[in-house]
Amino acid sequence: MKTADIEPFFATLKAANPSPQTELEYTSVFELLTAVLLSAQATDVGVNKATRKLFPVANTPQAILDLGLEGLENRIKTIGLYRSKAKHLMETCRMLVTLHAGKVPDTREALEALPGVGRKTANVVLNVAFGQPTMAVDTHIFRVGNRTGLAPGKNPLEVEKQLMKRVPAEYAVDSHHWLILLGRYVCQARKPRCWECVVAPYCDFTPKTPAPVPGKR
Ligand code: SF4
Repeated sequence: MKTADIEPFFATLKAANPSPQTELEYTSVFELLTAVLLSAQATDVGVNKATRKLFPVANTPQAILDLGLEGLENRIKTIGLYRSKAKHLMETCRMLVTLHAGKVPDTREALEALPGVGRKTANVVLNVAFGQPTMAVDTHIFRVGNRTGLAPGKNPLEVEKQLMKRVPAEYAVDSHHWLILLGRYVCQARKPRCWECVVAPYCDFTPKTPAPVPGKR
């Protein structure tokens, strides 16, 4: 993507959705951290279904510890990999209580030291909870970054670095939401919906997918 196209690309996404939000449901920084930790290889819809059962019963590190491993597993077992996620969440809660007075830390270093919290999870928490201009590159952003030519890279870290370099400062905080939503609903993996894509004029992908002909699959 030409540098001159990057500003209008994001201005167009902003005009269509001025205040983009994560689709994970949460009411505190700890709930957000928990939801993101549970979301690896799971959909936001699936995570929300489980946390709607979990959070009314336990939504602080101490309350999760009080549930015990089995109690936690029982409440999140609809999510893939729930056993290892439950184990990581218990260990994370233990560290939050013992090292951080039960609060979620606001630095990358402290977040990534928590069990089950990798670079992507830390980026989401730093961005969504603490308003930092981080880029959490998931499967959607990886695809959109490469397909559009905005941030080509062979792996998520390369795409993240390109985005940090190329996204204009005024769009930096919200850009990862716009790119996720674009990838989830429009620039889909198997067949991008170019015919209804608002940023098509700025995207390098060719040939663009034409609108489906009525009656044809
Ligand atoms: S024009 Fe097509 S390939 Fe480009 S971002 Fe939109 S949906 Fe994706």
